[in-house]
Amino acid sequence: MSLNEIAGPVNYNSSYVPLQTTESISCEEAFSTKAFRNISEVVVSSLEQYLQNIEPVSGLALTDPAILTQKARSLMTNASEEIAAFDENRLRKIIDLYTKTGIQVHSKGYMGRQFSGVLPLSGVFDLVNATVNQPSSFYEAAQLPNVAERIMQEELNKYIGYPEDTFTMVTTSGGSLANLTALLAARNYKYPNVWNSGLHGIQPEGRPAVAISENAHYSIKRAIGIMGVGEDQIVKLPVNDKNQIDSRRVPLMLKKAKEQGLHVFCMVASACTTDTGSFDPLEELSTIARENNIWFHVDGAHGASLLLSDSHRYKLKGLENADSFIWDAHKMLFTPGTCTLLFYKDKQRSYGAFRQDASYVFEKEADIYTALDSGEQNFECTKRPLIMNLWVSWAMHGKAVFSQKIDRLCYLAAEAYNILCNENDFELVHQPQANILCFRYVPDNLDPEVHPHFQLNTRNKIKEEGRFFISKVELNGQEVLRVVFMNHEIEMKHFRMLLQEIRRTGQDIIAAQNGRSAQHKLHTAINIL
Ligand SMILES: *Cc1c(COP(=O)(O)O)cnc(C)c1O
Repeated sequence: MSLNEIAGPVNYNSSYVPLQTTESISCEEAFSTKAFRNISEVVVSSLEQYLQNIEPVSGLALTDPAILTQKARSLMTNASEEIAAFDENRLRKIIDLYTKTGIQVHSKGYMGRQFSGVLPLSGVFDLVNATVNQPSSFYEAAQLPNVAERIMQEELNKYIGYPEDTFTMVTTSGGSLANLTALLAARNYKYPNVWNSGLHGIQPEGRPAVAISENAHYSIKRAIGIMGVGEDQIVKLPVNDKNQIDSRRVPLMLKKAKEQGLHVFCMVASACTTDTGSFDPLEELSTIARENNIWFHVDGAHGASLLLSDSHRYKLKGLENADSFIWDAHKMLFTPGTCTLLFYKDKQRSYGAFRQDASYVFEKEADIYTALDSGEQNFECTKRPLIMNLWVSWAMHGKAVFSQKIDRLCYLAAEAYNILCNENDFELVHQPQANILCFRYVPDNLDPEVHPHFQLNTRNKIKEEGRFFISKVELNGQEVLRVVFMNHEIEMKHFRMLLQEIRRTGQDIIAAQNGRSAQHKLHTAINIL
């Protein structure tokens, strides 16, 4: 996409020219209710226009960072001692630049990642969060958010099935932090002295180790590194042909680990995996973990939302046995990033992740107010009231807005799979269990020796051309294309268009390599619908 397309109707100078700020205002005016009103109106109308004018099929207009920096700089005030007045035109240009340079999450060409366009109620509510600005780790600073957390944990537990009085939920900024928090709670529970004495004192039991799937998300390995357990102490659990942990082989793996001097204190399952959306057999694994006195953690960042769907809930059977699990609301509950729910079966254990005395904030004897504080259970001190975006949607629309969309997204992946079954030049690598589908483009004239990174190159070229945005992953040492359906408005005609785009792009790559002068047509963003 060209610079002018990104810039839209706005005419930017090619070099950085500081703005001539004419008007100045007082500090009081900058913080005034009138300013709030004026600015909000500009923001709402700009965003409405953006949403109205989404290109039906578009992915990403990747911009040279140097050019983008120049554009951004050209929109900055040059006032230093005076406060520049609110300039509506400039704010519109900033919003324009922001929306045009991002991944087009509202378009049907976006099929690449796990975040998406959000429910309007959930997104717009961020304005309330930011305006009242109540950091939520302590009840006294954020009363409604803390009550909303308790309400949401009860609402969601209708689908989880933990014993009512003993479980708890904590919110964190993202799944990676939630995984780390849960694993810290597991480590500190299994090794009660570790907070004070570090990892030194625990050698006699064996080196602390964590058992995880070959396909676990990288944040799990990262947590293991941060905790001082070390990646060398990861026991990799083998997977079956459905990319699920092969639970029949787990007991032997644990036995071998023990023989090697490892003490597995925690086992992590995925529900579902990031690459193929596969659900590990939670029920079998939870039984094995219990028999071996191992903390069982489930990474449900993407897939825990399927609990809300009557037709997909069975995939999470056994989740109710997990000592802890995580659930990203900013993925399949369509809230803005980030909002992660971290559940513990036993509330007491949630206090173990960060054992620390900080008497200036933590109360020894909880009263009715401080009983709702979560500062001891999460890493953050100042924390956004993450739950509010989710709770307000749940409160006003109810559960069905989530379950209907989830069903639709999973249906799209199943339909796309059916289409690919009949396309000879595509190879399927798994049957979708959620809304994620991986496959390969393998035309007859493809020589893998000549093109060892054909899938990757095809994916990158599609991204550069900007009409579709898909991702790629490596599965069993093999590159594959990956599609994540996050937009319920996608139809199979859009998926078929993607297949055509993959064919055209892939053939261009083969032709170019063959020495023929490939005709690289410049992409023009035509409305093909
Ligand atoms: C996305 C994802 C994560 C990471 O969560 P963030 O919210 O992006 O930090 C962890 N595990 C799985 C399985 C995921 O899909």
